[in-house]
Amino acid sequence: MGETEPRTSVHNHRVLIVGAGIAGPTLAYWLAHHGFTPTVVERSRQVRGGGQAIDVHGRAVDVLTRMGLLDAAHAARTGVRGMDFVNARGRTLARTTAFTLTGGVAGSPDIELMRTDLATMLLDSTRATTEYVYGDHPVAIDQTASAVTVEFASGSAREFDLVVGADGVRSATRSIAFPADGHRLHRLGRYIAIGDVPNFLGYDRWETFYAAGPDRRVCYFAGAGSTRVMFSKTAPDLDVDRYDEEGLKALLRSHFAGDGWQTDRLLDEVTATPDFYFDDLRQVHMDAWHLGRVALVGDAGYCASPSSGLGTTLAIVGAYVLAGELAAAHGDHHLAFARYDRRMRPFVADCQERARRGGNLYITRPRFWLQLQQIRLSNLRPLRRVMTGLAAGSKGRIGMGVTFPDDDRGTA
Ligand SMILES: Cc1cc2nc3c(=O)[nH]c(=O)nc-3n(C[C@H](O)[C@H](O)[C@H](O)COP(=O)(O)OP(=O)(O)OC[C@H]3O[C@@H](n4cnc5c(N)ncnc54)[C@H](O)[C@@H]3O)c2cc1C
Repeated sequence: MGETEPRTSVHNHRVLIVGAGIAGPTLAYWLAHHGFTPTVVERSRQVRGGGQAIDVHGRAVDVLTRMGLLDAAHAARTGVRGMDFVNARGRTLARTTAFTLTGGVAGSPDIELMRTDLATMLLDSTRATTEYVYGDHPVAIDQTASAVTVEFASGSAREFDLVVGADGVRSATRSIAFPADGHRLHRLGRYIAIGDVPNFLGYDRWETFYAAGPDRRVCYFAGAGSTRVMFSKTAPDLDVDRYDEEGLKALLRSHFAGDGWQTDRLLDEVTATPDFYFDDLRQVHMDAWHLGRVALVGDAGYCASPSSGLGTTLAIVGAYVLAGELAAAHGDHHLAFARYDRRMRPFVADCQERARRGGNLYITRPRFWLQLQQIRLSNLRPLRRVMTGLAAGSKGRIGMGVTFPDDDRGTA
């Protein structure tokens, strides 16, 4: 447990958190720890599964440690040991155990685990202290100087002291409670499609990358507990209805069918899986993550996109910082939200910039061949360190560039 003693009564203690992904439950944990009364409303009817391996970097590892979840997170590690790059006939072009593209450098203290495992772990750690409402979502948020009234799709209405949107990149809290010109969406011109597949290739904790074309990649990911495939494609002018799952699957087929290696079999498997996930990658940029009694955390306020590999780290760190600032300000949201913004902004800017710089790694031909060279050289012991650093690029030890409210308690 952390070091701040819970208080029995705090100002503005009734906090509605919208979204039970990664940021939502982390925030609920720390708010409850500091003596607030969190309620989480989640649009899905249960914990949302799906997704690939995600990374917990740098200071987010510190937060999990303070939550007593480090051992559980380590136990859930994907355990992926290395990776191959293959060609259209399945021949291995390069192999390394020095790093993987999703997990980064081997032996780093950062943790790669499946999104579902982390989401479940966070939820389990908050069930006793947090009210969860599933299958509902806010449709109106009205704030006065002293409270916020939230109307839900179910028809009910409730009053809270504060509302925090943790409802992901397409946050409804952001659309409802903030002016339309208060945020900018930067499309990265690429999509990913992910799903569970049977381990029909028989790999054991191993990643396989296939460059199907200059703009198309397929990653077969055989982790300790599950096997997933991720398709990614450059698509600057994509215009899709993300709720039309059959349409998205047809689009994926039209882009990848007949592409060689195991692509056709993987397409069949991924389009049949119930946890099919599709994301047209984008970043969220805002000048302020708070307005009155409403604030945003995680992807809702500052999505860096999955190509950053830092969305989960930002969500965990942002939730911890926000709860810490509310506690330090004794519930004074004006003070706390402003401090949260100031503390997080350089960190967010750095993570978003990394995604923009590294987002197209492995996509363009020249970079791909350069990457193959780096992977080959990383197997030579004298060159291993330097080549690993180069090839793993943005996956080095990152996520350290933020201070926590309790790092400098007494001086804040
Ligand atoms: C199903 C899924 C799969 C993902 N897979 C990957 C992946 O493979 N790789 C990767 O890098 N990132 C992935 N992400 C994104 C990654 O989880 C986030 O970037 C990161 O963890 C930040 O977390 P977050 O809590 O801010 O947002 P999210 O993890 O997106 O959580 C948002 C939560 O809010 C809920 N929600 C949305 N709208 C509403 C509403 N109106 N009312 C109430 N609840 C709402 C959602 O159902 C979700 O549970 C995935 C996200 C989801 C939801």
